[in-house]
Amino acid sequence: MPLLVQKYGGTSVGSIERIKQVAAKIIRAKRVGHDVVVVVSAMAGETNRLLGLAHEIAEIPDEREKDVLLASGEQVSVALLTLALKEVGQPARSYLGHQVRIETDSAYGKARILSIDSTKIVQAIKAGDVVVVAGFQGVDEDDNITTLGRGGSDTSAVALAAFLNAEACEIYTDVDGVFTADPGICPQARKLARISYDEMIELASTGAKVLEIRSVEFAKNYSVPVHVRSTFSDVEGTWLVNEEESMNDVLVSGVASDKNEAKITLVRVPDQPGLAAQIFGPIADAHIVVDMIIQNASEDGTTDLTFTVPKADHKKALSIMEKALPAVHAKGITVDTEIAKVSVVGVGMRTHAGVAAKMFQVLAAEGINIEMISTSEIKISVVINAKYTELAVRVLHEAFIGKQGTV
Ligand code: ADP
Ligand code: ASP
Ligand code: MG
Repeated sequence: MPLLVQKYGGTSVGSIERIKQVAAKIIRAKRVGHDVVVVVSAMAGETNRLLGLAHEIAEIPDEREKDVLLASGEQVSVALLTLALKEVGQPARSYLGHQVRIETDSAYGKARILSIDSTKIVQAIKAGDVVVVAGFQGVDEDDNITTLGRGGSDTSAVALAAFLNAEACEIYTDVDGVFTADPGICPQARKLARISYDEMIELASTGAKVLEIRSVEFAKNYSVPVHVRSTFSDVEGTWLVNEEESMNDVLVSGVASDKNEAKITLVRVPDQPGLAAQIFGPIADAHIVVDMIIQNASEDGTTDLTFTVPKADHKKALSIMEKALPAVHAKGITVDTEIAKVSVVGVGMRTHAGVAAKMFQVLAAEGINIEMISTSEIKISVVINAKYTELAVRVLHEAFIGKQGTV
């Protein structure tokens, strides 16, 4: 029987009532002839609640123990969903990450999946069970529990679909698919029927949290057909596909925003070879992902070095920088957590000029100051003051996509 991997996010399993509805949906897929492996997130709000508890104890909680704690959210939801399936007569079995050996590296809080042992899953499917696997968690080679980073259940699902050679991976969530902008921010946003893997990678990396970035990279690398759709209706959602010729006609296919970064500036560092390496080496060793970097040389032989890191890591980055301060001869450090990155994404940018200029004009017309800029072949991102995020998304959407632009 063709195998489907279905992933249900936090809101979809946010209450017992919803868990029962999800169970009914899974049974419908079974009835039309699919084998089903289900991946679930923790119930809505649970991961944040657990994080809050850890932070009541420690400002920077020990990372190994934090992962043990956070992984417990998904343990609850796999058990509840499996109970709900059994209750209505569907044989089912839950598994935690370590039980099906979702092996990851040891980067706590952002671990990467290296392999999955599918033996038990395949056996359970053959026995007629729906297999319910805990998302977001794995185990490293020394059997330590790891978590994959926020939104990581998407990655668990796509990785399982890849390792099990599933027909498709369905990501069930609280919106109808991937939209041209976050529908929660931009009422004019429209659902896309299809989006290329590369555009989705850029949208995910710039804040469109409907899919976690690594899940899209996985999907692209292993050619997993991914269908993002609503838990609460049966309408067709958005398919992730390889780039198609017609996609180049569209200049901008999506606008995204991200308030989860913080900006750190090292003030007046000597402008000499080796300093950037000295600064970013320890940050990389601490597995902190630096996003944008700008350096402004001044005439007195010093430079201000500004970079962004995930907000969740900014205290750690700051403490590393404070230790490095004397060695790099910086005059000081400033931090700004009230920033947002706003981005426009589209494969059409490869062949059309002028997108950056238009983006800057649109923001200028609203009096929004641009603090940093970065570009890729198919994306332009700017850092602005966080209070303008929603406004920036709406005016950029209006300018590039419009009320009824073509996609
Ligand atoms: P889940 O708990 O199901 O994983 P998430 O909250 O992680 O759901 O992701 C779904 C949310 O992503 C939506 O509610 C929506 O607000 C947000 N989102 C941001 N950008 C987009 C976009 N371009 N298209 C659809 N949803 C988006
Ligand atoms: N529960 C985790 C989170 O809230 C993983 C996920 O939902 O995908 O980030
Ligand atoms: Mg999510």
